[in-house]
Amino acid sequence: LGEICFAGRSNVGKSTLLNNIFGKKLAYVSKTPGKTRAINFYIVNGKYYFVDLPGYGFALRSKEERMRWKNLIETYFRIRRDQIKSAVLIVDGRLEPQQSDKMFVEWCDYYGINVIIVASKVDKVSKSQIGLIKEKFEREFGREVLPYSGVTKFGLSEVVEKIRSCLENAGA
Ligand code: GDP
Repeated sequence: LGEICFAGRSNVGKSTLLNNIFGKKLAYVSKTPGKTRAINFYIVNGKYYFVDLPGYGFALRSKEERMRWKNLIETYFRIRRDQIKSAVLIVDGRLEPQQSDKMFVEWCDYYGINVIIVASKVDKVSKSQIGLIKEKFEREFGREVLPYSGVTKFGLSEVVEKIRSCLENAGA
């Protein structure tokens, strides 16, 4: 089975996005940053896995925690490399591009894993800013970035379409 993994800093809206994609309560939506510490696999249509990676960023306060997270992700990438069709990285569209997100993209590049970047929470910025945010993140990450809101569902269909085409192209 092929799989697609979801990553992002804690509280960025990853669980909300997963729930929006499935249209039902799939992942636990938490108000407490960093609740999910395990890798959760969800089987979809009996055809592929959606993999929920633990959130990272400000919730990983100690060096020990950061190392643990790094080891977890690198082990996951190594073991599942051939099954992973794409990673979806959710970033906070209201903030400047974060070092931890850039690091995640670098790991994906190193392992040859395609990354779909989603800039979330754009309901918090004015409509006229959304295009600028997209451009800023695309410059920073050197690839396409999809603006999205889990509240208004702005951009949701584009995200779903992107994931669908990644899975189809990969023959999953
Ligand atoms: P996770 O830790 O990345 O899984 O984040 P959650 O999905 O649990 O969301 C964290 C908080 O952000 C919750 O209070 C959500 O209601 C809120 N949230 C999620 N997505 C959005 C969004 O697109 N816009 C806004 N304004 N809030 C969001």
